Amino acid sequence: MMAWERGIIIKSQAELNLMREAGRVNALALEAARQIIRPGVSTQEIDEAAAEVIRKHGAKPAFLGVPGAYPYPATTTVSINDEMVHGIPGKRKIKEGDIVSVDCGTILEGFVGDSAFTMGVGEISAEAKRLIEVTERALYIGIEKLRVGNRVGDVGSAIQKFVEGHGFHVPREYTGHGIGRSMWEGPQVPNYGIAGRGIPLRAGMAIAIEPMVLVGTHETRVMPDRWTVSSKDSSLTAHFEHTVAVTQNGPVILTIP
Ligand code: MG
Ligand code: MG
Repeated sequence: MMAWERGIIIKSQAELNLMREAGRVNALALEAARQIIRPGVSTQEIDEAAAEVIRKHGAKPAFLGVPGAYPYPATTTVSINDEMVHGIPGKRKIKEGDIVSVDCGTILEGFVGDSAFTMGVGEISAEAKRLIEVTERALYIGIEKLRVGNRVGDVGSAIQKFVEGHGFHVPREYTGHGIGRSMWEGPQVPNYGIAGRGIPLRAGMAIAIEPMVLVGTHETRVMPDRWTVSSKDSSLTAHFEHTVAVTQNGPVILTIP
């Protein structure tokens, strides 16, 4: 298992307070996105709803310009059905029965908040419903493990056991991560792992924990736009994320309104 041992930055309480503000704005942006999702709305319109909230708060989108095959061109990623993460907003319209994942990052006072949700649009299949439920529960199972004295492997192991126990799969190439002034700091926090192994969690760490779940297999592929990551077998996927502070009093979710 690859791990980013370097780049772990412990935050002071004052810094965590700033991260809480970035997280609050990010949550509001995602809530605005959630509110307009319905059949006929384009993924671009979803992106604009989030972008407007970020602007209004004097904050900046964290995803815009992220380096890749080409700089990331939007405020959010909107990933539909088999698309797991990094879907680029555009003219595509949401349809009844889709499951839509929106991921967003906000920079405020130099700190980043990063979170994501998945929702069904109108009537969705029983399997899609179960997928979304399992993925969201996996997020909270992971968060519960973000405690001083635990290790990164305790987090990944709990998520993986829960997800695989429901017959679903976790990707290997995309993971959660430390977060602070940069969207990606150490440690890397995979959605799989071995309990008791990996980097010890310390008070003052901030972690973007983000279970991604696939129905068919754990394998993914990058689509021709060179950003969108889909399940290799085109099966459904879901994604939930919160930015969480590890504290002496337990995990504190930063990306809530
Ligand atoms: Mg994210
Ligand atoms: Mg993230």
